[in-house]
Amino acid sequence: MEHIAQNIARIRAEMEEAARAAGRDPREIQLCAATKMNDAEAVKAAVAAGVDCCGENRVQELVQKQPLGAYEGKPVHFIGHLQTNKVKQVVGKVDLIQSVDRLELLECIEKTAARLDLVQDILLEVNIGQEESKSGFTPDEAMETASKMVQYPHCRLLGLMAIPPISEEPGGNSKYFAQMRQLLVDIRAKKYDNVSMTCLSMGMSGDYADAIANGSTMIRVGTAIFGPRNYGQPQK
Ligand SMILES: *Cc1c(COP(=O)(O)O)cnc(C)c1O
Repeated sequence: MEHIAQNIARIRAEMEEAARAAGRDPREIQLCAATKMNDAEAVKAAVAAGVDCCGENRVQELVQKQPLGAYEGKPVHFIGHLQTNKVKQVVGKVDLIQSVDRLELLECIEKTAARLDLVQDILLEVNIGQEESKSGFTPDEAMETASKMVQYPHCRLLGLMAIPPISEEPGGNSKYFAQMRQLLVDIRAKKYDNVSMTCLSMGMSGDYADAIANGSTMIRVGTAIFGPRNYGQPQK
């Protein structure tokens, strides 16, 4: 587990460098550990080494690791595609749902949160590369949805999340990151009710420095913290 702490220290140093190069305060940028396919012990090691939060992709992994205290001491976020029939296992159990990628899901989260009498923090996921294979709002839809957040009083919209296309060359995603930053600024300028637009979640192991250069306030890093995921192996 020692490699996890070493990796996090290295990533923190690189985050700081990228922030300073962009004239930003490094404290503006949070490190979210993308914990999919890593067991509770590995997640605890990342928490102990000082990540700001954990992001879980699959409901099944969330409900397995949470009772083991995997995330204890740090917020846990949901960052994967969420089916409506699993919403009740997530609402109120996580601090932030980053991956609200369609209206139907927002409506389901609202109803569930209302029933539980709580307010769920969310981000809207934007399909910034307009990829067929990915879910997410278009930028126009994200703007429109933000304008209607007053209709969802049991949700609070804190910002945007994106997973841009896999880049062919270094820096290839900068234009998408810049578009996301602009969209965040544009929505924030409208001062919609129930919308704060303080969080811009973008950047992963391969491109977080570019994301920070383009305004990211939260990077989601898996491989660079935990090492390669072993998709061939059964999950522990
Ligand atoms: C897996 C995952 C990440 C992290 O990816 P790495 O390339 O391993 O850093 C970030 N965001 C989401 C939504 C993910 O599913």
